[in-house]
Amino acid sequence: MKLFDVYPLFDIAPVKAKGCYVWDSEGTKYLDLYGGHAVISIGHSHPHYVSAISGQVSKVGFYSNSVQNPLQNELAEKLGKISGYDDYQLFLCNSGAEANENAIKLASFVTGRKKLIAYKKAFHGRTSAAVAVTDNPKIVSPANETENVIFLPFNDLEATETALQSEQAAAVIIEGIQGVGGINIPDPQFLEGLKALTEKYGSMLILDEVQSGYGRSGRFFAHQHTAVKPDIITVAKGMGNGFPIGGVLIQPEIKPWPGMLGTTFGGNHLACAAAIAVLDVIQSENLVQNAEEIGNYLMEKLAGISDVFQIRGEGLMIGLEFPFPVSELRKNLLFKHKIFTGVSGQNMIRLLPPLCLSKGEADAFLSAFKKAFAEVSASLMEK
Ligand code: PLP
Repeated sequence: MKLFDVYPLFDIAPVKAKGCYVWDSEGTKYLDLYGGHAVISIGHSHPHYVSAISGQVSKVGFYSNSVQNPLQNELAEKLGKISGYDDYQLFLCNSGAEANENAIKLASFVTGRKKLIAYKKAFHGRTSAAVAVTDNPKIVSPANETENVIFLPFNDLEATETALQSEQAAAVIIEGIQGVGGINIPDPQFLEGLKALTEKYGSMLILDEVQSGYGRSGRFFAHQHTAVKPDIITVAKGMGNGFPIGGVLIQPEIKPWPGMLGTTFGGNHLACAAAIAVLDVIQSENLVQNAEEIGNYLMEKLAGISDVFQIRGEGLMIGLEFPFPVSELRKNLLFKHKIFTGVSGQNMIRLLPPLCLSKGEADAFLSAFKKAFAEVSASLMEK
């Protein structure tokens, strides 16, 4: 059988990874400033994480959600404490899209409404309801429910109020920081306004923290740069540091009933062991604070390199927007300087490194970036 060929791949096969580094099958070492789509939070192959997963698999790797699983309670308790949401409830699933699906279903159950409000350039996943609130022409689905979704200009409170006035929207869904759409940060007043408006018109506010959460922005959740407390928060990516797990944090007034939500694999023993180990390390190694410090350091130094590109970001979620396509620059960084980076659209390099990135590793990137930028920008600017 052949693989269904949907991914454009670099010809690199990682065989080993440690901290912020990855080695390929030929022994070449790469600095990882992408973390496999913002997934690697505590660093690759952290010893505490490795021993938690291997210890758990030798006991119980999986049993279904028809029996007690104390690891789920331990995870919920630790996540509640570290995130400042210990009065919320946790529903566990397997991915970011699934977390958003469940959040949307919940909002619809609670309000009895079907319509959704989302924002231009939003990305919330690739399942059909998640696709329906994703504003990206490359990602369409025959099953999408676009007739129920209104896309509004980002940061536009007035348009949001107009859309909410008919009292048909189950929820407003917004990313803590737009990732795939190009590192767009909601204005604090906008988020605060959304909270007030959703309350006024009886809708739920869903904060998608799948990419911007788990410490990446220098707060546990990116929306915690403001005082807003959403009704529902979705998480995944950094939650399992590579082990697939997602979650929905649900405000205390939303009451569950048996069968309201469900999943076979969500919250299984291995996934919980991985997610607990991630929280232990985030806490013991002060990774949220590290993300803020190293992120600020990187952005300050990058700003000193050139004003040809614009910098947007919080913590270790950083976008560098160029007036030209970045594919040559990324290839130069990868093949010449052995550094993985991400991309957003054609013109933005997206940096989403592990949250344990050290100052020395940031410096290594900065010096390689300076060279790569000098090497490719002159010829690209001419085009
Ligand atoms: N929400 C956001 C903000 C994302 O960035 C992503 C993935 O990139 C998703 C949801 C979907 O997550 P997953 O790929 O785990 O389904």
